[in-house]
Amino acid sequence: MAKVIQSIRGMHDILPDQSPVWNYLESTIRDLFIQYGYRELRTPVLESTSLFSRSIGEVTDIVEKEMYSFDDRNGDNLSLRPECTASCVRAGIQHGLLYNQQQRIWYIGPMFRHERPQKGRYRQFYQAGIETFGIPGPDIDAEVIAVSARLWKRLGLKNVELQINSLGSNEARNNYREVLINYLKSHEDQLGEEEKRRMLSNPLRVLDSKNPAIADIIKAAPQLLDYLDEESAAHFERLQQLLNEMAIPFVINTRLVRGLDYYCRTVFEWVTTELGSQGTICAGGRYDGLVEQLGGKATPGFGFAMGLERILLLLEEQAISTPKQSPQLYVVMQGEAAETAGFKLTERLRDELPDLRIVNNTSGGSFKSQMKRADKSGAEFAIILGDNELAEGNVSVKPLRSNEAQSQIALLELKDHLNKIIRTGKNHG
Ligand code: ATP
Ligand code: MG
Repeated sequence: MAKVIQSIRGMHDILPDQSPVWNYLESTIRDLFIQYGYRELRTPVLESTSLFSRSIGEVTDIVEKEMYSFDDRNGDNLSLRPECTASCVRAGIQHGLLYNQQQRIWYIGPMFRHERPQKGRYRQFYQAGIETFGIPGPDIDAEVIAVSARLWKRLGLKNVELQINSLGSNEARNNYREVLINYLKSHEDQLGEEEKRRMLSNPLRVLDSKNPAIADIIKAAPQLLDYLDEESAAHFERLQQLLNEMAIPFVINTRLVRGLDYYCRTVFEWVTTELGSQGTICAGGRYDGLVEQLGGKATPGFGFAMGLERILLLLEEQAISTPKQSPQLYVVMQGEAAETAGFKLTERLRDELPDLRIVNNTSGGSFKSQMKRADKSGAEFAIILGDNELAEGNVSVKPLRSNEAQSQIALLELKDHLNKIIRTGKNHG
């Protein structure tokens, strides 16, 4: 037998049994974003590699070691997108969506990073996110954070903590950078090779290090918040005020610097302790310099990205039930005449009750085997069409999930009867 080909390590199929919860999460996210007036932007999964090296920064985990990059047949160096902010900015500049206007954008889709696969960390994973452009104030920071807060509420997730911090202006960050380098230098003997290298090229990233050996050094490091410029301090203050007024609890985490280079002022993460070291389910912040860095006219930006797999893991961890998508009706048909009548009937029902999920039996089979399939389909009821009943204008409706008796219903009354016994609507059943 030929060797069976497997999916790529760290890249997973979402199987039919798993897709209902994915669909539920994605549609909840979509509805929420649209509720706040955000509009979807879909960008290609492949971009020029330079888009990411210019935006995310050369000295980052992503660009240094996580990207799927290759030369295509023309010799152009391309990368599978590791995140979507850069693509949104690229598209925004390219199509003139950014300059001198306000944009509220959202996206959803697969991202690719060559990381060590583990629970909550994959090589193809899904992000949904928001990017806003042209809005410099803390009002939009608060709004975007409120969108994420409302998602947890809508999903019923508990125990996710909002952590916020401010990175200040570029100037304040540069001042702090010097202070931090000096501090880290004084502890150089305790740093690992990677941290020593980063200390000079991108010292804030050292604060982001997950190396437990230097946890104490990081803890005692000088704090960026103490070096904030006045405007950034006021911005941060107003954000906190708005969050308080909207009753969104938060903590200030002075070590929160985010992995990516382009952030300034507000950064935030939603963190849970229930997913091990993959505890960040949503992360974002302000990136006022990014549009200009990618060749557009200076435009402020603020956004977030959340990891859908981690949200799903948390839903599972917290045993939160989500809607099923199994059919409500399975139609059992015995004989050719019944099959003909059944196909006509179910098309009519789909006209009349578009939210009803109906599966027709196919390939015939004995009554017993059809009922087995009906049960396996997860349907609530079997509709049974037999030649004798049809001759009298009736069908049988048999409850599959309770011990209630089967009933005979006149074909003409079937629609009303179904309306009574079945909760319709796309998120029920
Ligand atoms: P981490 O510190 O966990 O590596 P990150 O800082 O690299 O995260 P971001 O680039 O900010 O992550 O991406 C935003 C969100 O996307 C993360 O908070 C997480 O929920 C999700 N995410 C990032 N990388 C992965 C991955 N490899 N697999 C699954 N989800 C991911
Ligand atoms: Mg990462």
